[in-house]
Amino acid sequence: MIFCSLQINTQIYGGSLLFAFIIFKLFQGSIFIRNENIQILLRNILFLYLESIVITDALLENQLLYDKTNTIEKSMQKYEDANIQKMGLYILLMEFIYYTVHRIIHHRIFYKWIHKQHHENYSVVPGDAFYSSLIENNLILFSCYLPILAFPLSALEHKSIMIFYNTSFYLSHSDIVYNHHSIHHKFHHYNYSLLLPIFDIIFGTSK
Ligand SMILES: [Zn+2]
Ligand SMILES: [Zn+2]
Repeated sequence: MIFCSLQINTQIYGGSLLFAFIIFKLFQGSIFIRNENIQILLRNILFLYLESIVITDALLENQLLYDKTNTIEKSMQKYEDANIQKMGLYILLMEFIYYTVHRIIHHRIFYKWIHKQHHENYSVVPGDAFYSSLIENNLILFSCYLPILAFPLSALEHKSIMIFYNTSFYLSHSDIVYNHHSIHHKFHHYNYSLLLPIFDIIFGTSK
């Protein structure tokens, strides 16, 4: 299972970084990563990648992630079989968990030692997406994987969500495409959602 997990996460982390970079450059974005942050960024992405490999392996072993699709041919077939409704519910729960966690780490008790680093820059670039404390990175992982207990997905369904969300997470740290999260970096107490502003609208924190 570990090889399968390694393959899935290499596609997630490598693919999303590549997609985000290409889209950013297509929209003629300038700075993708701040030179002074490269070391922390590499450390964080390496940790996230390795932790994700361990988590994915455990989920595959326990059939919470199923259907290992290793060939393009199989993947194409499985795309047709994707359960869109279940993927939607997964995303909804993930957004809710992240929204809750994000509001909690903005509380003065936690802010300084968990979330302050991520808010160092008022104006953001895509590389700031994972410029954060290790605790915060683990909270992001927690938000992304916890819904699997309620909605087990195929490895392909989960991988698609993760690539989409990871790519969006980089791009949301810029003003191209979507400025929801860059507004959060400017005003702090609005737009806590990961990507879809559903819970910001429900709880009155949308801007
Ligand atoms: Zn951010
Ligand atoms: Zn924040």
